[in-house]
Amino acid sequence: MRKTAIILTILLTLSVLLTSCAPSEPSGGDESYRVIVTTDALYELVGAIGGGHVTVTNLLPTGAEPHDFEPKPRDVADALAAELFIYNGLGLDAWAAQLAATKTEGMSLAAAEAVPNVIDGDPHVWLSPTGATELARILRDALTVADPANAEAYAENCDLLTDKLAVLRDDYAEKFAQVKQRTFVTGHEAFAYLARDFDLTQRSVEGLYAEGEPTAKQLAELVDFCRDNGVTTIFAESGATQAVADTLARECGATVVTLYTIEFAQDSLTFTERMETNLSRLYEALR
Ligand SMILES: [Zn+2]
Repeated sequence: MRKTAIILTILLTLSVLLTSCAPSEPSGGDESYRVIVTTDALYELVGAIGGGHVTVTNLLPTGAEPHDFEPKPRDVADALAAELFIYNGLGLDAWAAQLAATKTEGMSLAAAEAVPNVIDGDPHVWLSPTGATELARILRDALTVADPANAEAYAENCDLLTDKLAVLRDDYAEKFAQVKQRTFVTGHEAFAYLARDFDLTQRSVEGLYAEGEPTAKQLAELVDFCRDNGVTTIFAESGATQAVADTLARECGATVVTLYTIEFAQDSLTFTERMETNLSRLYEALR
């Protein structure tokens, strides 16, 4: 039911895109198509697929994270005026969904909501090679409908990207098949799609408590879990959960290692570079 509704929404969105954008085809021939996005993952993927034909702008400023971002009036105006406004959806950037609902010019797309087999309540589709591949194809299709003159370039660029992701997926499927430790502990609960790709299990520091710091009892339970399961690495992102991850690691003699959420730009690394780093760090901790 839900899936049918989502697919219908996408088809409607794409058909409206086609009709609304055909008359505003750039006349000079060298003008690129303007897209506004809401996360660094979307910024990187749209940039890779769009190549020189698309100018992509991320509304999320450096250092901000999408879960609790509040747009300024200028951001709202930019998004409302954009030819194509692409946000993640699935609750990651709820402010963007609200904004898209009031948009009357150009078009908007909740890209992650079109991905098949969404994990309930989890917006972090792009953090698995399979999810990123599905997302890339949705973005390619949206660009193709919006700007059909460059369809061939979008298809080629998307293939280059998804080929890289397929190599990573195959390589690490082989590696993760060998590991005995199949559970990993993260600070930010963002890696369920990655865990699904490789038949691993994610436990989260954050997932054990809804808001704020975990209670002493909750922390003690997680320490017990780590000891019982031989967890030697706690994965964290730079941010609010780092202190909890540090405490947990100290309590159970583990080390803290950073994984990229690719929600914001970090260390001047591309999307696939950060994906590869995540897979490598995870594998090194579990092997
Ligand atoms: Zn997140």
